Amino acid sequence: MDLNNKERIAIQITDDYYYIGHPKEGFHILRTDKGLVLFDSMDIPEADERYLIPGLAELGLQDEPINTLFLTHGHFDHYLGADHVWRRTGCDVALSREDCIFMVSSLDNRDKNPLIPRITRLVEDGERFDFGSNYVYVMAAPGHTPGCLNYFFNVHDKGEEHVAVMFGGFGIFGPGHYPGVYPFSAQYAVEQALIFASTCVKTWEYCKENRVDIYLNPHPHLCPLLKTLETKDKNELIVGTEGVRTWIVDRFEDCLRSARGFTDIERTYEEPKGC
Ligand SMILES: [Zn+2]
Repeated sequence: MDLNNKERIAIQITDDYYYIGHPKEGFHILRTDKGLVLFDSMDIPEADERYLIPGLAELGLQDEPINTLFLTHGHFDHYLGADHVWRRTGCDVALSREDCIFMVSSLDNRDKNPLIPRITRLVEDGERFDFGSNYVYVMAAPGHTPGCLNYFFNVHDKGEEHVAVMFGGFGIFGPGHYPGVYPFSAQYAVEQALIFASTCVKTWEYCKENRVDIYLNPHPHLCPLLKTLETKDKNELIVGTEGVRTWIVDRFEDCLRSARGFTDIERTYEEPKGC
């Protein structure tokens, strides 16, 4: 399998955790006593037809009902596939209130707005969903977007329980680091970077207390999941709480580096027009 192209990957990773997609975008799937729980929905409206439906059949999960599709945040590469999944299955589609607004109003999504999905379940910081022997805990994780969410959930592997953090965001946006001209002030960018840094600390506190030992990003190439997909070695994925800390510290330091970069007075940035 060539993981560098967009060929479909459908893989079982633990007893109850699966991935369907390609190396940069995909559906993360928990198989629970109450049906399938999905995280994010790729960057094309036809993700259901092209990836999810055939992928579930390949994994023998085609008859499992889909309970909830949790979206990490309101960027198009996470929500564009959600509408078709919802229309076919009637599952709940969950997102934060802040990112419902962000999703329809943000320049980040530009021409993708007509394809926004219906959000049937607003989720909030500290909410916990029970799906029989699996749970999903929601944490507000602003910084990448205003209403970005982290999801924590348990998985089972050969009788052992592990806890994963799905770290909802990654990029830190500001002058010089944005697709197109950054439309806000440098000060706003610095504030967002520092809010993201604070989110990293909050995430680590939870990980430490709850012995989280798997670090995930919705994009496999931004976390140990890609290695797991390549080698099919679960040890690549279960990095331990100290391993999780390494990934979070890396985000934290990137936030501080970015904040410093956005206020670099020696650099000139292209000014936004008309705002
Ligand atoms: Zn994003």
